Amino acid sequence: MPRANDEAAEALEEYADLYALSGGDAFRVRSYRKAAKAIRGSTHDIAVGDVRVVPGVGQAIASKVEGLLAHGTFPQLEKLRDQVPEGVRELTRVPSLGPKTAVTLYREYGIDSPEALSEALREGRLDRAKGLGAKTRANLLKGVDAVSAQRGRVHIGVAMNLADAVVRSLRPGAERVSIAGSLRRMKDLIGGIDVLAVADESLLEMVLRQPYATEVISAESHKVAVRTRDGIQVDVRLVPAQAWGAALQCFTGSEDHNTELRRLAMEQGYTLSEHGLFAGDEPLPSSDEAEIYAQLGLQFIPPTMREGRGEVAAARRGELPMVIEVADLLGDLHSHTDLTDGVAPLGEMVAAAADRGYEYFAVTDHAPDLVMQRMTLEKARAQRDELKLMQDGYPDMVLLHGTELNIGPDGAVDWPEEVLREFDVCVASVHSHFAQDRDDMTRRFITACENPEVNVIGHPSTRKIGKRGPVDADWDEVFKAAARTGTAMEIDSFPDRSDLPDDLVRSAKYHGVKFAVDSDAHAVADLDFQRFGVGIAQRAWLTADDVVNTWPYERLCRFLSGRRR
Ligand SMILES: [Zn+2]
Ligand SMILES: [Zn+2]
Repeated sequence: MPRANDEAAEALEEYADLYALSGGDAFRVRSYRKAAKAIRGSTHDIAVGDVRVVPGVGQAIASKVEGLLAHGTFPQLEKLRDQVPEGVRELTRVPSLGPKTAVTLYREYGIDSPEALSEALREGRLDRAKGLGAKTRANLLKGVDAVSAQRGRVHIGVAMNLADAVVRSLRPGAERVSIAGSLRRMKDLIGGIDVLAVADESLLEMVLRQPYATEVISAESHKVAVRTRDGIQVDVRLVPAQAWGAALQCFTGSEDHNTELRRLAMEQGYTLSEHGLFAGDEPLPSSDEAEIYAQLGLQFIPPTMREGRGEVAAARRGELPMVIEVADLLGDLHSHTDLTDGVAPLGEMVAAAADRGYEYFAVTDHAPDLVMQRMTLEKARAQRDELKLMQDGYPDMVLLHGTELNIGPDGAVDWPEEVLREFDVCVASVHSHFAQDRDDMTRRFITACENPEVNVIGHPSTRKIGKRGPVDADWDEVFKAAARTGTAMEIDSFPDRSDLPDDLVRSAKYHGVKFAVDSDAHAVADLDFQRFGVGIAQRAWLTADDVVNTWPYERLCRFLSGRRR
């Protein structure tokens, strides 16, 4: 994805937020958000070509984007930034707190930050505020705490984008370069980016001159730390070539993993540190991570498994599972087009899927109960006909026509079974009534699993990182129902979802559940997101066999139609 597109999308999103906060017209807010999404998802590089060719970008938006590309900002954005305090904007990150409430809280109670909101709630100053009942206040307090806990951290999509840019900028001047830390372990929330390089010191001076380095935190001879515009800290560290493996191991593993590894080294009479693996004073080969794991008598442990959750013992016994790789995926079972809220037409999504060499690809636009998507059965059927016509052009890929259903508050979905039977794949997701209590929510998911036409439960926890916490359900009961009914749980790879998260994937696997690692792509570029979903799957020790979209088409077909008579 071209960097200028990301920058423009970010600025337009911020503008839309501020515009909403200042009481702006909801229709225009939506058109800014839509344009931001279209620009972010477009393969057309707006730094070199006209932004107007992106669908949904009219004159007014184009001139703002051009201002941004020329001067780094545009006047309307600056004006709103002055009017709305930063803290009020942060308020809208609290789940269930919309722009209207944020502005009211600011104007009537002087609440200008999440901290101020938390204080006011705890002191009872909002007990008589209009529209804030006891339940809402309790939810807000929970939300504020969640936001505070996430402060300074970003989801993996933001972090990986930034890390890719850093690595790209270093590669020409470095003999070796790699990300390390929690990002290399593919955690869903990232507090900072660690990069290691084998290079001479001039590389570090170059880091300080990069556009992403907006603030220098520290600069030493072997390490620099800078802060980026998103507030993320990036550390770049030089390591000697002969200790590359040891350094990479040390700066990648979690504390628990590294402690176990060092203890194991000690038991064998070695010492292990970032400087290398040593027998007394004598250095052992440490230029590659693999050498270190091998020397310690362990199977190689993939970075995503290095959390101190039993992987060292398993590797010692030679019982480490072969975790799924991106290359194992044969298709994608969840994607959208511009028929609903995607930005690319059907033909472009299908062509992009074919470019990836998929054996099958499912288009699953939203269903009618998500009213704002304006879907109808007629439209769905027309799309199916269109897809059928396209099939001839793709002899090596099966085009599946699916739908993303809405699981209603009682567990029912949009259409009756006989209509659902027309679809090749039914993903069913919760898109409303997030605050249901645990029992109702659990029953809701179980009812959806018991629907014989539902194949996959989409983004099950329904969290949106930084915006909305997970719903409350008895997941053990839900997973038992999924295993019993042969319903797959999704690992939605969209990085602000990352849903299911790895801990829930683990427990679902324990109950015998199968998974679908899907992109939930709303644009061509989003198809790449599956790498994040694979990261989650690896962190939960899933093998390819646990994931239905690694299966050959015939086997997948049996799974999809298995419960129909
Ligand atoms: Zn959805
Ligand atoms: Zn979706």
